[in-house]
Amino acid sequence: SVHALTFIVAAIGTLATAAAQQTGPSNPPDWSGQSGASGHPLMTAEAIRTAAADFRNCLERLWPEAARRGVSRESFINHTAWLTPDLRIMDLLDAQPEFVRPVWDYLDGLTAEPRVRMGQELLAKHRAVFDQVEQVYGVDRHILAAIWGVESRYGTMIGDRPVLRSTATLACIGRRQPFFREEFLAALEILHRGDVRPDHLKGSWAGAFGPTQFMPTSFKRYAVDFDGDGRRDVVDSLPDVFASTANNLKQDGWTSGQSWGYEVLLPAGFDYMLADRARQFTVREWEQMGLRRADGRPFPRPDDRAYVLLPAGAQGPAFLMLPNFAVIMKYNPAEAYALAIGHLADRLRGEGPILQPWPRHEPVLTREERRELQERLLRRGFDLGEADGRIGPRSRAAIRQFQASLGLIPDGFASVAILQRLRDH
Ligand code: CA
Repeated sequence: SVHALTFIVAAIGTLATAAAQQTGPSNPPDWSGQSGASGHPLMTAEAIRTAAADFRNCLERLWPEAARRGVSRESFINHTAWLTPDLRIMDLLDAQPEFVRPVWDYLDGLTAEPRVRMGQELLAKHRAVFDQVEQVYGVDRHILAAIWGVESRYGTMIGDRPVLRSTATLACIGRRQPFFREEFLAALEILHRGDVRPDHLKGSWAGAFGPTQFMPTSFKRYAVDFDGDGRRDVVDSLPDVFASTANNLKQDGWTSGQSWGYEVLLPAGFDYMLADRARQFTVREWEQMGLRRADGRPFPRPDDRAYVLLPAGAQGPAFLMLPNFAVIMKYNPAEAYALAIGHLADRLRGEGPILQPWPRHEPVLTREERRELQERLLRRGFDLGEADGRIGPRSRAAIRQFQASLGLIPDGFASVAILQRLRDH
């Protein structure tokens, strides 16, 4: 599914939501008037001004498609007549933070003690609803509560931009118009049907709304009316919120009764070339290779298939990831995000913190340095796709091959030392 923040630089994840939330309704900053950093022709200041001037016509051109979706002319006029573009969103759309937050900072922020305690209290308070949702959808309540906790701090931090205005702006202006036309039309359908109170359909600048940050098109695919009042209200009805989020994960392939993964200790002499998403073995096979759970408990399901993930390289903790980890990544495709969800879920269940230390002394490469590292690898013939400053599985594989060629530990971690090696050789 294409969820809340799919198109945002994956590593900043929910930070963008947080940034949107800090923009209060009372005094929102104006558009900078600057061309966007992406260099896209639709993001120049002139293109933005031209498109903004054509905003009303653009909305009217979308009317036939809205009509095909069953939106009445009256609804269309009621909901769009007073809409103006929110051009500040153009700055946010092209924001490329120079510094990438290290995964340990990200996890510290999202799984801190107050968030754990608050989640445990809410799990107890809403036990009956979670019982029912778990029974119907087979999705672990702790994962649902963790998504709730990470996406909106349990509904206490939801952006306050009207979703229809944000999606209308992005549907008519800027470089993501085809994507956001679908979101705008889906938001109109929600308002036309009355699933969510119009003045409560608010959220991030990208149009994600409600405690678990549904995008309008995800709402269309996954939202359910669990409390039986005839409305799929993923904003104000917690039964609808939990059930819709569970339905989303279930439709995306959630395996009932299985966790997301385990923190593991690697044996001495571990072959780091195996720490690769493409190298899947059963938990039993990993055990035979010497892997153990960090907390010393036995693996509950030895036949599950899993791969080894080292989010911070050989110097940091190791994890064994089960198929449900990939399901969480469909909700928001960033490893750090999925790890935060999985770990917060464990903490809510009463388990302890991550036991192996993070390499907190390790300087983190800036986005520009990441791009440079990728370009230098590409020039040496390592195929990693496009040098976009994001270190994904392909970049990691390329780094690993480069490390192996030098006789270094091939952990695939984009470190300052590796960049220096690439510059030197
Ligand atoms: Ca309902």
